[in-house]
Amino acid sequence: MFDKILIANRGEIALRVLRACKELGISTVAIHSTADADAMHVRLADESVCIGPPPSKDSYLNIPALLAACEITGADAVHPGYGFLSENARFAEILADHNLHFIGPKAEHIRLMGDKIEAKKTARRLGIPVVPGSDGAVGPDDDAMSIAREIGFPVLVKAAAGGGGRGMKVAHTADDLALAISTAGNEAKAAFGDASVYLEKYLQKPRHIEIQVLGDGRGGAIHLGERDCSLQRRHQKVWEESPSPVITPEARARIGGICAKAMQDMKYLGVGTIEFLYEDGEFYFIEMNTRIQVEHPVTEMITGIDLVLEQIRIAAGGDLPVTQDDIVLNGHAIECRINAENPVTFRPSPGKISRYHPPGGLGIRIDSAVFQGYTIPPYYDSLVGKLIVHGKTRGECLMRLRRALDEMVVDGIETTLPLFRALVREPAIIDGDYHIHWLEHYLAGT
Ligand code: ADP
Repeated sequence: MFDKILIANRGEIALRVLRACKELGISTVAIHSTADADAMHVRLADESVCIGPPPSKDSYLNIPALLAACEITGADAVHPGYGFLSENARFAEILADHNLHFIGPKAEHIRLMGDKIEAKKTARRLGIPVVPGSDGAVGPDDDAMSIAREIGFPVLVKAAAGGGGRGMKVAHTADDLALAISTAGNEAKAAFGDASVYLEKYLQKPRHIEIQVLGDGRGGAIHLGERDCSLQRRHQKVWEESPSPVITPEARARIGGICAKAMQDMKYLGVGTIEFLYEDGEFYFIEMNTRIQVEHPVTEMITGIDLVLEQIRIAAGGDLPVTQDDIVLNGHAIECRINAENPVTFRPSPGKISRYHPPGGLGIRIDSAVFQGYTIPPYYDSLVGKLIVHGKTRGECLMRLRRALDEMVVDGIETTLPLFRALVREPAIIDGDYHIHWLEHYLAGT
């Protein structure tokens, strides 16, 4: 097992990793920018190192500074959390070159899945169903129009290097195609330095269903059921639940089995998420994330498996904690991502939290790094915290969530709490009858 882990992240996920380390008896090193000197992850870690000024590129993404922090503190492993360097294959390799463990998958798998075109090819090869689309990037010499006509409009133009919903444009008809390709390409070039795009069938009313997997890197792998992340705004997840209200035990066993088998064939190491769109009973692979995800707690709540702790154990050479047959899904869990944003305009609202009261009681979990008097800096994401609620049934979970949301107090800044208080009372949400465009329509009043 590792002796000392450097946590290359901030906010709630840094705290989440810290908690797993403490339970495992591993010493912790926090890193922070000058803007985060008073942050909770710094206060709770055994040691901390300031690695640069507020902008992420000078601090949390600053690889030489991170290496120096490992050197100074004698850390033997690095946990990247999510975002920042978590899906940077080069970072994983550089750590290995310095005899440091990267707590994540093998670099080759990060690289493979980071390129969406290669990821789709790999998925197809491994027997995972994919969205119909172009075979690879659409080059200047390709006849994009005939590929699009073959797929059938509407088509979605997606950036090969995409992430966070950027570099994605829908062409509803043939007339929109050229513009969609150039806009998506330009956006991708600006965001990722790579303008290549590919085409996919645009699904009209799918749900976003993702499968959590766990592999030991030696050919052992299991799945931990699905998460339904269909409530999205601008392709960003807002509310996640497990199990999905629309996935039957048979469908779960089928797609989960396909994913676990694929991970066994790859000899995948650590936690991963295979994302699908789901429409009319069919699953369509869109991408794989090779890291712990923001919404991992809903899976933990219904399986009782600590994913971050297992991630660390497995990175240190440990075995899978359970066999597939041992996994029992117990009850229902929902997560709300509460952001420091205006609940109507979604304008970020950083600033000082003057009053803070997290809800409590049976089945309530808060993953957050804020406290009363804390100032949310303007430089990073606007997550205040995740409210995760568990119940024996979806109905009980919704009942508790309604109560917990009403009890929670975050004053001094604007938050999206009022949005969740409204959502939890919406008939479509109560019935579980929503798809990936539902929230945008709801917000637009259409
Ligand atoms: P990113 O890596 O940028 O998050 P994804 O490929 O994971 O991109 O897609 C993000 C979201 O975009 C999905 O959850 C879904 O809402 C939407 N989306 C992606 N592909 C399609 C598609 N073929 N048809 C309809 N919506 C899609």
